[in-house]
Amino acid sequence: MTGSEPAVELDGVTRRYAETTAVKAVSLTVREGEFFTLVGPSGCGKTTTLRLLGGFDSPTAGAVRLAGENVSGVPPENRDIGIVFQNYALFPTMTVRENVAYGLNFADPPDGGSTADRVAELLDLVDLAGMGERDPTELSGGQQQRVALARALAPGPQLLLLDEPMSALDARLRERLRVQLQAIQTELGITTVYVTHDQEEALAISDRVAVMRSGRVEQVGEPRAVYRRPETRFVAAFLGDNNVLDGTVLDVTDRGDGVRATVRVDGTELVVRADDRRPVPGDRLSFCVRPEALVVDGATNTLTATVQSTEFLGETTRAHLDWGGTELLARTAVPLDGSVTLGFDPADAHVVAVE
Ligand code: ATP
Repeated sequence: MTGSEPAVELDGVTRRYAETTAVKAVSLTVREGEFFTLVGPSGCGKTTTLRLLGGFDSPTAGAVRLAGENVSGVPPENRDIGIVFQNYALFPTMTVRENVAYGLNFADPPDGGSTADRVAELLDLVDLAGMGERDPTELSGGQQQRVALARALAPGPQLLLLDEPMSALDARLRERLRVQLQAIQTELGITTVYVTHDQEEALAISDRVAVMRSGRVEQVGEPRAVYRRPETRFVAAFLGDNNVLDGTVLDVTDRGDGVRATVRVDGTELVVRADDRRPVPGDRLSFCVRPEALVVDGATNTLTATVQSTEFLGETTRAHLDWGGTELLARTAVPLDGSVTLGFDPADAHVVAVE
């Protein structure tokens, strides 16, 4: 590998089955050392994409390249990858130590040391030092998943593939484990491709995310960028709470501080930032405003809505609002009640479609 080549490259990859096309002409690259996440709703093709990377399945069209090499026809055991699945798949009759050592059955320890030393090193890495003689059944779900991670990392693979590794765990444990996983990944600098349907997890853990829908990649980017600037209606609605509104463009101005479009939404005129799309009067335009951008008594873009229900989330309260038949979400420090007047800064609105 020259260093300029991506660690992972999918080039126009399609996987067709008899009835469905699970992955449709997907092209993306993962950089060396990157934590890259495939996120999307159930059935969007995440697992199939990961299986194609791992060599458990072959593309119908397109190429998979690892470290610049086309790996079509290369079986999983020759791809230099570690993989962790949702169900820990530990061997119940083996101790923790034996499970981790199993990861070395087909390979020598990467540093030329002994298997025993390598196992101890890995148990230490996943914070399970001293637990080597336990049976997997004597461990919590989170601990079992860390054993599975240690086993996958034992041979020192170039690439780590993780398929919903935390989805069987409860919320608190998931949060703890994701912090540990991130620390381990950073420490090792190992290129990682992670699959999850949990958008919050994807935003929290990744260097970059690819949002998938119906076999296609809708958007790739850093979590902050994808959250702030979703490129499609789907991404806007899928990643975090959002209000997506549709209207007709009445007027477009450019006064040097950016392009602003006046949009009529259900009879109300709202002004939104529209630098990226440059709409013209008469266009149908969709934009999104995050619930936290709707502020009480905001000076611009005022909307009067009725609170339908609220959810206490600790620091903030989420309110479900009815705005003349349109459902809106707001997130405020002070709980909302009854009839409220909200506003948003045009700069906090982001255009997701112009037709
Ligand atoms: P989930 O989050 O539910 O695991 P996913 O995003 O990982 O979903 P995939 O498992 O990749 O989705 O499946 C994508 C689509 O391909 C689905 O419609 C699925 O039914 C179909 N599919 C997957 N594997 C096969 C197969 N072996 N034979 C036929 N269809 C399949």
